[in-house]
Amino acid sequence: MTEHLILNDGLSLPEIGFGTYPLRGDEGYRAVRSALDAGYRLIDSAVNYGNEEEVGRAIRDWLKDTGTDRDEIVVQTKIPGRAHEFEAAKRAGRESLATMGLDRIDVVLIHWPNPSVGKYKEAWRGLVELREQGVARSIGVSNFTAEHLAAIIDDSGVTPAINQVELHPYFIQEELRAEHERLGIVTESWSPLGKASAPYEQPPVVEAATRHNVTPAQVILRWHIELGAVPLPKSGRPERQAENLDVFGFELTPDEVEAISALTRADGRLFGGDPNTHEEM
Ligand code: NDP
Repeated sequence: MTEHLILNDGLSLPEIGFGTYPLRGDEGYRAVRSALDAGYRLIDSAVNYGNEEEVGRAIRDWLKDTGTDRDEIVVQTKIPGRAHEFEAAKRAGRESLATMGLDRIDVVLIHWPNPSVGKYKEAWRGLVELREQGVARSIGVSNFTAEHLAAIIDDSGVTPAINQVELHPYFIQEELRAEHERLGIVTESWSPLGKASAPYEQPPVVEAATRHNVTPAQVILRWHIELGAVPLPKSGRPERQAENLDVFGFELTPDEVEAISALTRADGRLFGGDPNTHEEM
């Protein structure tokens, strides 16, 4: 069974989640249902993934068909850069709720800070109000640097519960993770496997996989859990979904964790997604 972390606002967050980009349409619907069947209880979507309708429908249908309590699932989405005005951020959250057809969204994040626009502090105030209104249970951010985090905390007095950032063995975000720990923010890892450039062949990964009799992907996902980060692997294939979730039956040693972390490199980002310069609207 999946283990849980407690967020700084009390929400219990599964230690691993299901990433839904770029799953859409029937493929997206089927993938979310099979992920729920496999045991995922945290589902990550975003307005800009264009899949909130089918993700929400898959969750609703699955809850109904299995008789599972709504409270068992943590549904997460992200508001886009074009919604960074205070009112627009609140509207975006309410629109996501309507599109997903749910009673509430468990976690709403700001997708990217878009610093050249300079309105992420306003957007954050909008999310604070969405939480007060019960549209969102928890609120957080994605792709925020330590400076962006300090700016919204200073401005609003409210610390995000989560920062979802690029994190995999080629880009380990050591300083940012330390800042999250200091502030009481949970780190979620996007592209946790490293997507197309996953380090499946790297010796520290292969050796740990052999020692623990698991797959390289399972070693990498377990590495996130040892770091205290919540990985959000995506797979459209039920057998890989199950494989990726099956990481609670073994532990990596501190030496194994350190050897995998040593794969990090300065240019390890997958597509140059530096939050200070990369913008998404
Ligand atoms: P991942 O690291 O999850 O890699 C996904 C790729 O790995 C797919 O091609 C998948 O193929 C393949 N794969 C999955 N499991 C296995 C396995 N066990 N063995 C071999 N290959 C495997 O990267 P993503 O970029 O998809 O990121 C995951 C999630 O993170 C996204 O879905 C999204 O929710 C989130 N994200 C958030 C961002 C943000 O800005 N906040 C940015 C990017 C992603 P297949 O489907 O064929 O199995």
